[in-house]
Amino acid sequence: MALDRSRTDGAFLVLTKFLRPNNLSQKMMRVIFSIYLGVTLLITSLQFLTEYLKTQDSIVQELKQLEETVREPISTSLWQYNESQLDVLIDGLLKTPIIVGVDIQDTNSIDIVSKRSAVVPSLPVSVFETRSDLYWTLNERDIFLGSLTLYSSSQVVLDRVLFGFSLIAITAIIKLFVLFYLFIWAFDRYLAVPLKELMSQVDEVQLSQNAGKRIDLSNLEDNELHQLQGHMNRMLAAMESDRQRLLESEKAKRSWLEQAVAERTEELQVSNDKLKDLAARDSLTGVLNRGAFIDTAQQLLALAQRRKKVSSFMLLDLDNFKNINDTHGHFVGDQVLIHFTQTIQSLLRKSDLTGRVGGEEFAVFLNDTGVDDAYRLADKIRTAIASSVLDIDGAAVSYTVSIGVDSSQAEDQSISELFKRADLKLYAAKDKGRNRVEK
Ligand code: GH3
Ligand code: MG
Ligand code: MG
Repeated sequence: MALDRSRTDGAFLVLTKFLRPNNLSQKMMRVIFSIYLGVTLLITSLQFLTEYLKTQDSIVQELKQLEETVREPISTSLWQYNESQLDVLIDGLLKTPIIVGVDIQDTNSIDIVSKRSAVVPSLPVSVFETRSDLYWTLNERDIFLGSLTLYSSSQVVLDRVLFGFSLIAITAIIKLFVLFYLFIWAFDRYLAVPLKELMSQVDEVQLSQNAGKRIDLSNLEDNELHQLQGHMNRMLAAMESDRQRLLESEKAKRSWLEQAVAERTEELQVSNDKLKDLAARDSLTGVLNRGAFIDTAQQLLALAQRRKKVSSFMLLDLDNFKNINDTHGHFVGDQVLIHFTQTIQSLLRKSDLTGRVGGEEFAVFLNDTGVDDAYRLADKIRTAIASSVLDIDGAAVSYTVSIGVDSSQAEDQSISELFKRADLKLYAAKDKGRNRVEK
């Protein structure tokens, strides 16, 4: 049951494939052979009709000849009333393959004999006949006895024509099928197979990482497919060179962009550093502001503590600075502040850190310096300031500074402890009359 079903499905598939082929050669063959089959059928039908009419004519001739042969003995039998001889003659006639019926009528057109062949034709047939009169000659006078009609049928004609035509039809169908598959084979071999190879190579080239890969069909003769391969390869080469050009321009653009970004980044870095520096420095004197000074001094102290080095801290406050402002004005006060920072920086080392921690209050962190050295340096600053006379817009300005000095101790955790102790020393210096250093 299942086998029957799969066979039906298979046959259905073949039929569907023939009616709606997806194969180029089969599609072409279907069109060509459908037209060819139609034309052949038309021509064959015309041939068949002509052959049929010719055969019918020849059968009529045969009927006439037979009639002429039997007319004499039948007339004799009728004249002599020899019924048995007449029966033998009629049966003999009916046995011939072309006669299907015999009628004999008397002078009054009444049937004397009317016999039909035992073989009744199965197909609807048309009957045709030959008719002739029967005479008996007596004393050179023809006496009319009646008429003889012999019948034949289209079945007889068909039987003759069909055999020859069946042979022609069978050989034509065999030739048709052989040609059909021969054409399909040839189309597949010379067109469909190279086309499939071309398609698969196009896919391969598309998927390949190798930019220089080209289509190279096997067994290719010098024909349109060969030219198509050439055209496609030229197109691939053009595409590849376009791609290369694009890549190069992309590369150039990218390197220009990278360079521009690098330049911009560098510029930004410089501006950033400048900004950082600006944010960290006091705009009037150029030394570190309070926040930046404390942060940096804190880091320096931590480093020194780890290395078990002593650091010192100075807190410097200009004496009676308010009076300078009040006497000479703020501009002069600013010039004094600038002079003060320039003086102390000229006396300090590069490794020392200076910051403005208040309006007229400065701090100095001295790396790797003991309290005595710090004291000596502070006094040097104090002396240098006290001995300076500034000429600002024609006014002679002099001023002094009080300084508190202290050094780090092993247990100091933060700069604020050192700051507080130096501040106390500074107060002491102020208390003791200003223009002093206290340690
Ligand atoms: P002392 O000896 O006790 O320190 O007295 P002093 O007058 O110096 O102290 P005080 O704290 O009374 O006055 C400090 C003055 O410093 C007040 C303020 O106007 C001035 N000052 C602060 N910052 C600036 C500045 O940037 N420029 C100028 N010209 N003056 C400033
Ligand atoms: Mg002061
Ligand atoms: Mg002050």
